[in-house]
Order: sequence, then structure tokens, then C-alpha cells
Amino acid sequence: MELEALLKKYFGYSSFKTGQKEVISALLAGEHTLAMLPTGTGKSLCYQLPGYIFAGQIIIISPLLSLMQDQVEQMKRFGEKRVVALNSFLSYEEKENVLMYLNRYKFIFISPEMLQVPYILRKLQCLSISLFVVDEAHCISQWGYDFRPDYSKLGEIRHALGQPLTLALTATATSKVRHDIIHSLGLGKVKKVESTIDRPNIGFYVEEIADYREKEKRVLELVAQLQKPGIIYFSSKKGAEYMALLLIEKQICRVSVYHSGLEQDTRILIQQQFIHNQLDVICATSAFGMGVNKENIRFVIHYHMPMRLESYLQEIGRAGRDGKPSIAMLLYSPGDEQLPFQLAEGELPSQQQIDWLFNKLGGANSRGVRLTETLKEHGGFTDIQWRIIEDMFNPLLLETNSLQDLRAAIQKFTEDRLQAKKEHIFRMKQWIETNTCRRKLILQYFEDELTTIVHPCCDKCGLDLKHYHSTKQSLQEETDNGTWTDYLRKLLINSGLSK
Ligand SMILES: [Zn+2]
Repeated sequence: MELEALLKKYFGYSSFKTGQKEVISALLAGEHTLAMLPTGTGKSLCYQLPGYIFAGQIIIISPLLSLMQDQVEQMKRFGEKRVVALNSFLSYEEKENVLMYLNRYKFIFISPEMLQVPYILRKLQCLSISLFVVDEAHCISQWGYDFRPDYSKLGEIRHALGQPLTLALTATATSKVRHDIIHSLGLGKVKKVESTIDRPNIGFYVEEIADYREKEKRVLELVAQLQKPGIIYFSSKKGAEYMALLLIEKQICRVSVYHSGLEQDTRILIQQQFIHNQLDVICATSAFGMGVNKENIRFVIHYHMPMRLESYLQEIGRAGRDGKPSIAMLLYSPGDEQLPFQLAEGELPSQQQIDWLFNKLGGANSRGVRLTETLKEHGGFTDIQWRIIEDMFNPLLLETNSLQDLRAAIQKFTEDRLQAKKEHIFRMKQWIETNTCRRKLILQYFEDELTTIVHPCCDKCGLDLKHYHSTKQSLQEETDNGTWTDYLRKLLINSGLSK
């Protein structure tokens, strides 16, 4: 059967989106494939369709539990019952039950942590795996923007599973990151499918604003003017909450907040309300977006300066999935780069913390040395900082028993990481300050080229913001806003921000 016929039969679509057919054809020809496809182009179809052709199982490694659940639910809605997610959401009994009948499933989603469990790996070794899929593969590279230490072990896992045919999927990766992915997975010869990362229906607009007071006013104005729905990204939870409150007070739109400080249930609720058009705007941190399938997002505003172009591209890529004109705005005030610098430093253990830790560990010999919760607490390490220490500590301990060497290695690692983060911030700033076309510049960064002229393109190419204004004069007439307004007020009062 032709691929198009299978597409129609299983998914109901009559044509492939950019890159999909090329990826599927490469896999069917038995080639390991690295696919870089823009967000929102249906990456999952690239392994789902071959799944109906291959005899064995498809293993999909995914970094985010919510994303995994979302994909499983979606496949079930399409009528696929042989799909399961092996992650910490399963109870002990459920997990045992799934593992006992693992070969009855066709599509097995699994978190990288679960793959580290020898018992689970042994179960997987008994299967006949047709395809090993690494989703969000840029997490493999420590130069990627979302490095996951568990991901760097996927090469070993793949080896233990008999080096099955592999598909690595990512939306944004520089050539350095792409090289890391191939090398780390031990793929050797690879078919690369790199569709352009350009999203021509998204316009770029950077606006310089004198200070944060002006910025607040400008956001209120923009949200009132622009077509909705939209997302406003902040680098701080407080910033997001404060702006949501302002928007409510001025009754500009139906708005809520989303960040990692909220309870899981609350987050799911807000996400659902946004997806079902019960909210116009979400004031969010970067915790919001992955796995949110909403096609009609008309604007993405960045209130703070993003830490790197990759994450910026990922976040604005949530706009305009329906192909209609959408706008990505970045509001910049002089000195805005200070916040990303601080955040970058805060994500890594500081020199003083490393010194303190090794003084506490004492002695020159590492025998019997252990990292404890008490050390984490007394050293004032955040979860992220501590994870970096732990991830380096134990594997290094096997290589050396000199604490001196261990300390030097950790120091070197954090210094290199900080330097790399700073370079990304500089590059982001260069992009903000450029005098040339923003689309051209961002594509250049990913070694991509602008092939067609896009209009409207960006502020440097004369984009007019009015193009994205709402034609509706009055503000939201939709009522039944009582519940969410009350709810949000409560939320903000609890966080101490409301008057
Ligand atoms: Zn341009």
C-alpha cells in the first residue's frame, strides 16, 4: 500500500506535512534518521505510521511525563489501543501488569529514568524492537538548551537493546547539538531530514521600551489591541502573577497564570481552559507550552529576555499552528540581560558552594564519601544545582578516588557551562540589537536559509503591528468569567501579591 493510502487509513489525512514522508521513507529503508522538524508539524506521525508497517514494537523515549500522557491519550482517541506509557504515573500494580504483558503493546512510551531500571531493561530486551525513537533528542547534548543527564545514557541503553533502528526527533538543534545526538546514540551512518525551521506566518517584532513601568503599560495596551488568544512569557513566577493581576484589574481579557509553583491539578485545569477558549491569555513561565496542542494562538509576547535563541524559537513556535498570521513580540528594556545572567548563574553550583562542599567532605581520599540531603540543605543547593553535583559525583567517583580531582572536574564543568550560557545570552542580545532582518538572522544561527520572501516579516523589514490587531472594539462580552476571576484572585492572594 502507498504511504498516502496508509496515512488516510490510519490518520484520516490526505497529505503529509513537510518532512514527514522523507523521514518515514528513510525508516522503511532501514536507515537511522535524525529529523529536525519545526514545532507543530506532527513529529509523532513519523513513528506512528511506520509502527503500522513494522512487525515489532516501537519504543518511544520522551522527557516529559505530561507530554507522554498527552501523546498516549491522543493515540487512544485515534483508536490505537496497543499503546502504553511506562512512567511514574503508574501504580506498582499497574506497572507489574503492563510489564507482564509487555509484548501485547505496539507503542511503548517510556521515560529515560525507567530505562535505568535493570529489571525493566531486561523486560524490554525480550521484545522484538522495530524502532527506537528518541523524542526531544536535543536533551542528549549538554550544549542543548534542555540537557537531561539521563538522556546521555541512551546510547548504552540502545546498545543493550541490540542497536535497533533509531529515529531521533527534535525541533531546534544547532549543528553541534546534532553531532552530539548522533555520536551519543552511536548511530554511525545517519539519514538527516532537516526541514526549514522557518514559520513564515509568524512575524517578529522587537520593541525597545524605556523601563519596566512603561513595559507594564505597553503590555496592557498590546493585549487589548492584539488578536487573541495569546501567551505572555515571563522569566519569573512573580512577574507572571503580577501581570495577570493587572490584566484582571483593568478587565482587559480573561487571563490566568501558569508556572511550576502551581499544583499539578491547577495547571492541568488552566491548560484545559486555555485550550477550550475559556481563557484569552496565559501569563506563563517556560513551564507552559510543551504538549499544548492549541492551533489558534495569535500572539506570543516575551516580557523578559529569553536565555537563548533555541528556547525563544521553541516558545514562539506555539503561535499560529493553524497557519494564520501570528505575531512574536519581544519587549526589551536596556539592562534586561541582567536577569538571564543571574538565572544562568543560579542554575549552577557556585564556586563558594563547591569549595564549601569539598571542605565538608574532608580528606584527600574519596573512600566512604557520600552526598547526603543534609549537605544539600546546609550548602544551600537548589534542586537543579544538586542534580548537577550528583550527576557528576558518582560516575566520577568510579574513575578517581582523589577528591582533589573530583573537585577540579566539577569546577571545570560548571565554569564551561556558565561560559556557554553566557555566550547564548550574548547571541540573544545580538539578535535583539540587530539592524538586519530578524528572520534571516535566526535562520542563519541554525544554518538554515531563507528561501522565500516572507511578508510581513519583521520590524526590520517594515512589519506593521496593526496587521495583528483585533477588529473587535469592545472587550470580551463573554460572561461566566466569575469562576476563573474569583479563582485567580484567591491564587494571587495566597501568593501574597493581591492587594
Ligand atoms: Zn525580516
